[in-house]
Amino acid sequence: MILPIVGYGHPVLRKVGENITEEHPELKQKIADMYDTMYNACGVGLAAPQVGNAIRLFVIDTTPFSDDEDLELDEQNQLKGFKKTFINAKIILEEGEIWSFNEGCLSIPDVREDVFRHERITVEYCEEDFVMKTEVFEGLIARVIQHEYDHIEGVLFTDKISSLKKRLIQKKLKNITEGKTFQDYRMRFVAKKGR
Ligand SMILES: [Zn+2]
Repeated sequence: MILPIVGYGHPVLRKVGENITEEHPELKQKIADMYDTMYNACGVGLAAPQVGNAIRLFVIDTTPFSDDEDLELDEQNQLKGFKKTFINAKIILEEGEIWSFNEGCLSIPDVREDVFRHERITVEYCEEDFVMKTEVFEGLIARVIQHEYDHIEGVLFTDKISSLKKRLIQKKLKNITEGKTFQDYRMRFVAKKGR
């Protein structure tokens, strides 16, 4: 089921997500709904707070990035079909060069900014089997995980840009908060009911 995506300004986007257990109610359905919602909005990642649920859960599918012809074939192949559910994730190490990439967010439509992040991360997380594992990711895959991970920490990419750039998008952010934005996917806003 496709769920409405919560827009910038909604307090749920600022909550630190709680860990969940295998007994979390309707977890399988929630995860399936998140994939449906992400694909419908043509996103590469979606975190539970973005559908109104402040829990440590996000889903990723980087396949759309694999079409980028500027990337090495290796990297294209890695991105293709990289589909993964992250439960109770914790980034325990960020390392390597800091590089910038033009990011966007389904909760902040029509805003894109260059964001600086480390190139390599070590993450502890579970998939749907709830077996804890530790894995290293790098490049664009790490980038998407870092963006979604920020969501479960209550952080948005617009927090990571310069105050000048932030001033320049202030009006856009205010409009999103008030629901004055039109997307081809369903959203809900703090200052407006449905649409
Ligand atoms: Zn986002």
